[in-house]
Amino acid sequence: MKYDYLIVGSGLYGAVFAHEAKKAGKSVLVIDKRPNIAGNVYTEDVEGIHVHKYGAHIFHTNNTEVWNYITQFATFNRFTNSPVANYHGELFSLPFNMYTFNKMWGVVTPEEAVAKISEQRKEITGEPKNLEEQAISLVGRDIYEKLIKGYTEKQWGRDCKDLPAFIIKRLPVRLTFDNNYFNALYQGIPVGGYTQMVANMLEGIEVRLNTDYFEHKAELDALADKVIYTGPIDAYFDFKLGALEYRSVCFETETLDIPNYQGNAAVNYTDRETPWTRIIEHKWFEFGKDAEGNDLPKTVISREYSSEWKPGDEPYYPVNDEKNSALYAQYKALAEKESKVIFGGRLGEYKYYDMDAVIASALDLCEKELK
Ligand code: FAD
Ligand code: UDP
Repeated sequence: MKYDYLIVGSGLYGAVFAHEAKKAGKSVLVIDKRPNIAGNVYTEDVEGIHVHKYGAHIFHTNNTEVWNYITQFATFNRFTNSPVANYHGELFSLPFNMYTFNKMWGVVTPEEAVAKISEQRKEITGEPKNLEEQAISLVGRDIYEKLIKGYTEKQWGRDCKDLPAFIIKRLPVRLTFDNNYFNALYQGIPVGGYTQMVANMLEGIEVRLNTDYFEHKAELDALADKVIYTGPIDAYFDFKLGALEYRSVCFETETLDIPNYQGNAAVNYTDRETPWTRIIEHKWFEFGKDAEGNDLPKTVISREYSSEWKPGDEPYYPVNDEKNSALYAQYKALAEKESKVIFGGRLGEYKYYDMDAVIASALDLCEKELK
């Protein structure tokens, strides 16, 4: 055998494993079917701006071990995610906090905000049964109507009454003037872009791009003792039990000859009428500066649309509902019988992993496999 490990996929999961395996003295080959490394965190350089090609990625974690690990490969800037909501041209701060309540109701103190929310949540009696009831019970009807209903229905393609309550519980509700979207100890964007960070992880490792595992499976398998597979688990088994479903998003990206389009990295369009869910202005992830600290004259924006996924589309978010979880369990049982192959990552495990969680999961595998 030429290699100890063949790693299918150069996203974060594959890159962490490849780096650690090499460090442990193993020989590794990484392949990816895309023309570039880094999987979904790939950033492309346009006009000196790192464009997040597969959607906005903000690194945030409470896991100190993961933070110490990833900062070996990049310095992170002090970016803090503070999206703005645009409801028919009216702007509100997110997540829901004192700035939001002041704009919505004119309230000034936390006590006044609590009084307003308490009054509006009275319409919900008993345990909230769906997202609509949960949202009203958290922040009242006004905020639900202007900042949640339209956005959520566009994003999920379903009525808020038909969505589970837990989705909305992810958003913080704060009685302080704090626009930080995440409750995370560490947060930022890698200086130089995610692609450079992943390139640093893969330094000295053989990587073959534009190489689809399934097109060359027999010859690639023959090269290595073991395979770390980070592609879709159902594709590995040729969809023989049926296709797992995903939620998809698509992006309409434009370069504009102006320095500042919206003054913020993310603006959520929370009304039902605007067809996109949000607009990302990529330069603000790095404060509008190039690598030398100069102001960038142009800007790149991406309008993000949520869409129903169909086979052949880019898989984005796993749908962890009952039907798909049951199908995944069947594929997982098949995967466990593949003694030479380890399935990992967002697609290999069909799991809604954030970047920090995928790194933690790859490090767990390294612990088991390489020690
Ligand atoms: P991927 O990055 O998907 O890598 C898998 C790789 O395998 C891909 O490069 C693919 O081309 C390759 N591959 C697949 N099949 C084959 C094949 N047959 N042959 C060869 N190669 C193959 N996380 C955060 O922490 N913060 C965020 O703000 C955030 N925003 C997100 C926004 C969006 C729109 C999405 C979809 C995800 C977001 N995430 C975010 C999650 C983050 O993208 C993932 O946690 C992470 O990228 C998963 O890494 P991975 O290596 O498991 O998978
Ligand atoms: N949400 C909303 N309005 C917003 C932002 C989010 O109603 O301006 C809701 C929406 O239902 C979303 C949920 O809050 O699915 C969780 O938000 P998050 O940003 O975590 O969504 P993600 O894009 O990560 O699914």
